[in-house]
Amino acid sequence: MIIIDGKEFSKKILEEISNEQKEIVERKNLRPAGLAVIIVGENPASQVYVRNKTRACEKVGFYSETIKLEENISENDLIKKIEELNENDKIDGILVQLPLPKRIDELKVINSIKPEKDVDGFSNVNVGKMVIGDESGFLSCTPYGIMQLLEGYDIDVNGKDVVVVGRSNIVGKPMAMMLIQKGATVQVCNSRTKDLSKKLKKADIIVVAVGVPRMIKATDVKEGVVVIDVGINRVDGKLCGDVDYEDVAQKASYITPVPGGVGPMTIASLIKNTFISYQRKIY
Ligand code: NAP
Repeated sequence: MIIIDGKEFSKKILEEISNEQKEIVERKNLRPAGLAVIIVGENPASQVYVRNKTRACEKVGFYSETIKLEENISENDLIKKIEELNENDKIDGILVQLPLPKRIDELKVINSIKPEKDVDGFSNVNVGKMVIGDESGFLSCTPYGIMQLLEGYDIDVNGKDVVVVGRSNIVGKPMAMMLIQKGATVQVCNSRTKDLSKKLKKADIIVVAVGVPRMIKATDVKEGVVVIDVGINRVDGKLCGDVDYEDVAQKASYITPVPGGVGPMTIASLIKNTFISYQRKIY
């Protein structure tokens, strides 16, 4: 069994970007890439995610701005802020940390980001481009990170049977689309799926993005399965995934741990997308 080490893998990606960024700034005398992160309200999990994203920017030598807005900000004022950033030449990527307060229309806000700066890949334009395989868009960070891990570990998805558990717009759905682009046969399951275990047992690769601690057991999967665990759950003060790692690892050929698997790749993909946006502008 091979542990898919997302922490190490993401480090390499960030190192490469950092070196390239340094070279561009020093040799070509150009500005660094810039990422703006908008956070609304005080959600503690969101604060941690935003801090990690800003830290990653600093590590690779990007310019970053964190814009903290009051919980009661109006949808219009939030969109106005985004429009300012759309016109700001120092900013190559704009990210709005989700979730937003319920009264704000998330999709309207996301779609107010210029597609060329939507480095999270959540806007209608970028989702559309992803579905048809138009590489001029941005791929959403978590599934993009997973695709890079699979490729980096030489796990060919072409012709494989894949079960994705979860159908969210940020993980399950884009994950399925990216796998289909690469020739996988994909089944997307949700909370109403009948006989999930039966479906999982037939899969060569499973991707689990549910948010239920240690839901998938060894008895749900076949021998030699590749397991990608997206879940981040806190149980008794410790992080765990949606897969019962110790149990399933005994049957898996490859498995991502939590923490240290998919999580760091999400951030690395965000940094990569921001750098791509920057390079599209400066070259
Ligand atoms: P979400 O929007 O809550 O979606 C969860 C999905 O799981 C839904 O489609 C739901 O089905 C399905 N589901 C729930 N219980 C199920 C069950 N018992 N059997 C089968 N399907 C079930 O969650 P998300 O945003 O995709 O996130 C999922 C998990 O990944 C969370 O733990 C989150 O923290 C984590 N996450 C991690 C990263 C990372 O970078 N590692 C990034 C994003 C999310 P219905 O649609 O029918 O309700």
